[in-house]
Amino acid sequence: MGFRLFIFDLDGVIYRGEEAMPYAAETVHRLRQQGKMVRFLTNNSALTREAYVRRLTGMGIPCEEEDFMTSAYATALYLQSQGASAKRVFIVGEEGIHEELRRIGMQVVTDPEEEGADYVVAGIDRDFTYDKLRRAHYAIQHGALFIATNRDATYPAAGGRIVPGGGAIVAAIQTCTGVEPLVIGKPNTYSMELLLRRCGVSADEAVLVGDRLDTDVLVGKRAGLHTVLVLTGVTDAEALRSAPAEMLPERVIHNLAEL
Ligand SMILES: [Mg+2]
Repeated sequence: MGFRLFIFDLDGVIYRGEEAMPYAAETVHRLRQQGKMVRFLTNNSALTREAYVRRLTGMGIPCEEEDFMTSAYATALYLQSQGASAKRVFIVGEEGIHEELRRIGMQVVTDPEEEGADYVVAGIDRDFTYDKLRRAHYAIQHGALFIATNRDATYPAAGGRIVPGGGAIVAAIQTCTGVEPLVIGKPNTYSMELLLRRCGVSADEAVLVGDRLDTDVLVGKRAGLHTVLVLTGVTDAEALRSAPAEMLPERVIHNLAEL
């Protein structure tokens, strides 16, 4: 294929939990040898970019922080662009969000009622509690802007399991507040466009390889990239048959060796 840039989703494409997907390392290596740029674009806000570097390196895919665009990092870049760097934020999320927002200088508050909050940023939180929900609700009811890193309903875990994603947490906050969040991750094109700009590549020279129709394929098509769906993640052939036209990929593959 004559593309200059290959953008891979992570969960369900490069790995499932701690299990690397078959051919992931070989395929990335082969593309790089062919002179292609390889980047990783994930909606998963749980990990820091540094942790993603460690995970992929451990799977035989050498990489550096600059190779990753996560929804947490994109959220930090968005907030920075809005002049929010010194503002107060209540986070419902994990280390990835905490680290990226600390790095841009945001003041992370734990009790919005005591400390006040200008923003609530939510993503996957595997220690989600009613108390966190109550605090997020209070902050948003008192004027904090509600931002979601992503709305993925589920993601693929090790052993073939599908588990709840950040979208389920975001939905809980939306339900009690009645406020719709600004969503930064895929299928919003924001993180994708940041990545293209950094690589200096136009959309039609790039291909997105993902496992979700409503995030990966949709964002690829919205941003004008070529799209490949790999059936190693959350989408099976059955789901593909009933997909709306706007979410149909150009190409479907069963594993990364077919790229
Ligand atoms: Mg995925």
